[in-house]
Amino acid sequence: MNVGLTLRAAKGCWRVNLSQQCAHGSIGLFVPPSPPVDPEKVKELQRFVSLSKKLLVMTGAGVSTESGIPDYRSEKVGLYARTDRRPIQHRDFVQRAPVRQRYWARNFVGWPRFSSHQPNPAHWALSSWERLGKLYWLVTQNVDALHTKAGSQRLTELHGCMHRVLCLACGEQTPRGVLQERFEALNPTWRAEAHGLAPDGDVFLTEEQVQSFRVPPCARCGGPLKPDVVFFGDTVNPDKVDFVHRRVKEADSLLVVGSSLQVFVGHPLWEPLRGSRLAVSSCISYLCRLLLRQVYSGYRFILTAREKKLPIAILNIGPTRSDHLACLKLDSRCGELLPLIDPQ
Ligand SMILES: [Zn+2]
Repeated sequence: MNVGLTLRAAKGCWRVNLSQQCAHGSIGLFVPPSPPVDPEKVKELQRFVSLSKKLLVMTGAGVSTESGIPDYRSEKVGLYARTDRRPIQHRDFVQRAPVRQRYWARNFVGWPRFSSHQPNPAHWALSSWERLGKLYWLVTQNVDALHTKAGSQRLTELHGCMHRVLCLACGEQTPRGVLQERFEALNPTWRAEAHGLAPDGDVFLTEEQVQSFRVPPCARCGGPLKPDVVFFGDTVNPDKVDFVHRRVKEADSLLVVGSSLQVFVGHPLWEPLRGSRLAVSSCISYLCRLLLRQVYSGYRFILTAREKKLPIAILNIGPTRSDHLACLKLDSRCGELLPLIDPQ
């Protein structure tokens, strides 16, 4: 379990010694408790899948917790419940070099572990559904590449993927693994270990460690680098949103797997509006961004499916924002239930 950390200077660089929060691949820490699988519900989901000819599946953080990646929201086990940590904000990252340095230092440490996570039976099941012609399209809110690792190809990564890096100046995309090698070359004596892994691959480090970490620029133009993911406070590319809306309209049913379909917000809604120094224009801008986030959250695609009168099924431990719109709701572990379904 999580223990205190000791810090000491060693040969000019800072070292952190601590034990890991949990064994790699352990699911118990991050998966909320769920009731035993109900055979009747399994039959209902089987019937739902069997009747579908063009099934669209939307996945969220709940599908990756069984691979050992924590989510932010799950009751008692999500990061919101376990720590006071909040995800990085897009505007801070783009505007402030020290924020980027802190982000990349933490991300550098967390990368070997984050990138080594493997698909679980839920990812493998969905991949086999695609291979057998059952799955029309897969939309994921996750950035961990686990669907790709399982072989899924008819896939839209709504919030991007941590395995790609984007230059904020010239837009060039490069593999994250290449950046890791550049980090190692620039920081040969810098050492640290992860104190806890967030869903976006970030970890916890001290200020001293962060300030001695060197971050390379884009190899092509010298611009700042950002992971190719949508940070909190940013919006999804409108072309990608339109693409997903079209896929939803072409589908004949929709299955949500491991997502609470909540709005993508990293702090209390009113927090940025605190204080009298904030200009009216800033308040209006903030409220507009909130509105956009409403539009671009996964929930928007559920509304499109509803407008098209598509049957909707939801597999998620705990309540979701769309339970009232679903014809079937299952509170089970994704990796336990999906392999029970015959896609033929
Ligand atoms: Zn560039």
